[in-house]
Amino acid sequence: MAATAASSTAAPENLVIVGSGPAGYTAAIYAARANLRPVVITGFQDGGIPGGQLMTTTHVENFPGFPDGILGPELMDRLKAQALRWGTRLVEADADSIDLSQRPFRISADGETILANAVILATGASANRLGLPSEERFWNAGISACAICDGATPQFRDVELAVVGGGDSACEEAVYLTKYGSRVHLIVRGEQLRASKAMADRVLANPAISVHWNRQVVDCSGGAWMEAITLRDSNTGATEELAVRGLFYAIGHTPNTRLVKGQLEVDSYGYLVTRPGRPETSLEGVYAAGDVADAEWRQGITAAGSGCQAALAAERWLTHHNLAITVSHEPVDPAAVGEPKRTAESDETNYDPNALWQKGSYALRKLYHDSSKPLLVVYTSPTCGPCHVLKPQLKRVLEELGGRAQGVEIDIEADREIAEQAGVTGTPTVQLFFQKELKQQFRGVKQRSEFRAAIEGLLGAAVG
Ligand SMILES: Cc1cc2nc3c(=O)[nH]c(=O)nc-3n(C[C@H](O)[C@H](O)[C@H](O)COP(=O)(O)OP(=O)(O)OC[C@H]3O[C@@H](n4cnc5c(N)ncnc54)[C@H](O)[C@@H]3O)c2cc1C
Repeated sequence: MAATAASSTAAPENLVIVGSGPAGYTAAIYAARANLRPVVITGFQDGGIPGGQLMTTTHVENFPGFPDGILGPELMDRLKAQALRWGTRLVEADADSIDLSQRPFRISADGETILANAVILATGASANRLGLPSEERFWNAGISACAICDGATPQFRDVELAVVGGGDSACEEAVYLTKYGSRVHLIVRGEQLRASKAMADRVLANPAISVHWNRQVVDCSGGAWMEAITLRDSNTGATEELAVRGLFYAIGHTPNTRLVKGQLEVDSYGYLVTRPGRPETSLEGVYAAGDVADAEWRQGITAAGSGCQAALAAERWLTHHNLAITVSHEPVDPAAVGEPKRTAESDETNYDPNALWQKGSYALRKLYHDSSKPLLVVYTSPTCGPCHVLKPQLKRVLEELGGRAQGVEIDIEADREIAEQAGVTGTPTVQLFFQKELKQQFRGVKQRSEFRAAIEGLLGAAVG
């Protein structure tokens, strides 16, 4: 093993895991239970949100152990809680750089340089998107990046569906979706399928699949759910509407390996290359887990399985090289996590004018009229994974501000009218009010520092 002294005086961590999807958290559970006190750099925006791709879906019906299925964000909350229970440290940020040229390895995140004797890369792969003008609006409301995961949902049953792509995945998904849809339209950019001959033949012989050659999807439309897509003929430029209730993307994935480019062996698509059937990458002490090294299976359970392998391999390697500094758990069995606490809806019986965080229209009305402090209103929906990520971040901002601002959570399904009045078209949306005026609106997951700066700006202006 090549050993170059690092200039930092901080003690190196045993193991840093980059990514907090099923692969990252499973690796953390195993490493934490081996008393390695792993660090997980969860990611934030760069290659997906904390918790990974399952935070962006609703029901996960095929992860073993949940006979009635489980919501993706809830599954990821459970994995996270399990990793924390055994002593994992989280850095809730994107890794900005990874330097594997010296040992210990150096990873920078959130302004901190973390030294690591071993690293597990579990940064996943992002499904490529078409970037349609209405894509955000219909994501999870007609558009999906995973037919196998989402095909069976009720909205896709007995209606016309479309798959875009011309490779093996697109063909496989088109055939798969004929189990659910009344007809499947395969939208192909060119004049032929890039899939294997056998797969292409299966598609072309299937009476429930119509192939649209030389067509590009240029947009989609509908109401609350997608109802049609617009296709453009690549030869003539003419456009046409196709009435479908589902649009499945099968235009490939991009593995999140940018930060280790040139440092580790990758295949022609950018996936990390590991030893066959094993988690070791081309560099000793660096392991890969999950979709970042898996162009083929890309499932929650396969990612979790490989996270387990990577942690066990890292533990053995650290021990073999005398690099593992273990901690002991006191008590040996940490306290049970229990079920997650939910914020109760406020009403006249439990409303607290000084509470940092409350829920529902009653609290919103009261605080809007009575509070003299900046008020963060976050509009969420029960199945919105990014909302799940954002809420604890907002609560932390309010805690850090020590009561100088307050927050209210509005579930747009339960309080539809309020959301409509507020002009909310997607979740999460955060509106910042001060002295009964809307001062700023934020869409999607943003860094804590942005909210803090906005609130401090209002407080500063009020004092000045
Ligand atoms: C819409 C959808 C529905 C799905 N449904 C199912 C299903 O029902 N069942 C199933 O088994 N599978 C499903 N999948 C597939 C499944 O989500 C993936 O196979 C699985 O999440 C891969 O896990 P992973 O840990 O390898 O990566 P991911 O889940 O992609 O997690 C990657 C992690 O890396 C982090 N990251 C990326 N870049 C950085 C960086 N620079 N610094 C720090 N962290 C970073 C991200 O923030 C994220 O936390 C679905 C996928 C999608 C997109």
